[in-house]
Amino acid sequence: MNAGLSKAAGAGPILDVKNLSVAYGKVEALHGASLAVASGQMVTVIGPNGAGKTTMLAAIMGQLASKGEISFLGRPQTRTKVEARVMEGMTLVPETRELFSTMTVEDNLLMGAYARHALGDRDHEKTMEEVFHRFPRMKERRDQLAGTLSGGERAMLVLGRALMAKPKVLLLDEPSLGLAPLIVKEIFRIIADLKQSGVAILLVEQNARAALQISDYGYVLETGKVVLEGPSVDLQHDQRVTETYLGGAALKR
Ligand code: ATP
Repeated sequence: MNAGLSKAAGAGPILDVKNLSVAYGKVEALHGASLAVASGQMVTVIGPNGAGKTTMLAAIMGQLASKGEISFLGRPQTRTKVEARVMEGMTLVPETRELFSTMTVEDNLLMGAYARHALGDRDHEKTMEEVFHRFPRMKERRDQLAGTLSGGERAMLVLGRALMAKPKVLLLDEPSLGLAPLIVKEIFRIIADLKQSGVAILLVEQNARAALQISDYGYVLETGKVVLEGPSVDLQHDQRVTETYLGGAALKR
């Protein structure tokens, strides 16, 4: 399903961002970027270093002040704080993969359910079993301190912790950054699986090939502006995308 189809089917976007601009002091890093994510859809934003991808996710999450409109579940977010967006079901997995390093894997996962727990949800044990089912390696290491995990395991734990929040939309910032090829493959398989489970995903990636392969719709962000968008399958064959982001070789249909 791509954005066009989902819109035609009448499912309004779960996340709708219009004309988003962010400035660091006098320097504007994002200039009027617009994007939409429909329910159950995976949308990717690709672009070079410094294009403004992380800035965009931080602004959508409410961590950075921005101009423009952000609508989540049909409600404007202009005046809502990060905590309120989390409570409503928005979860960001930052590229820094920050964990509570002196706490165990299991306790880190529990922290992911904190906001839901505060709202009265008490099903965290069941959710943890679901997360362990998805990440068996985390189950094996549930008593290990997070600070002693390998890079790939950290990447899994931050994803697992995000799932403990049962997000309606998951914002993923470069989940493959700095990982060895085999782990990258596994992480992308897990993300593709997550989409199958129905969670809407906004995936920011420099690994354009893998991101376009698993997503429905894509945007190309360059120097703070959306310069191209379309169904991911079309972007994979777009000459500009193949030359700049896919190493020049157009993929065969
Ligand atoms: P990468 O792929 O390298 O992570 P990106 O597309 O995520 O890059 P951003 O990290 O959003 O890009 O950065 C966009 C621009 O904003 C860059 O020019 C960066 O130097 C600038 N920038 C980011 N954070 C700050 C900050 N805290 N203060 C000043 N400028 C910043």
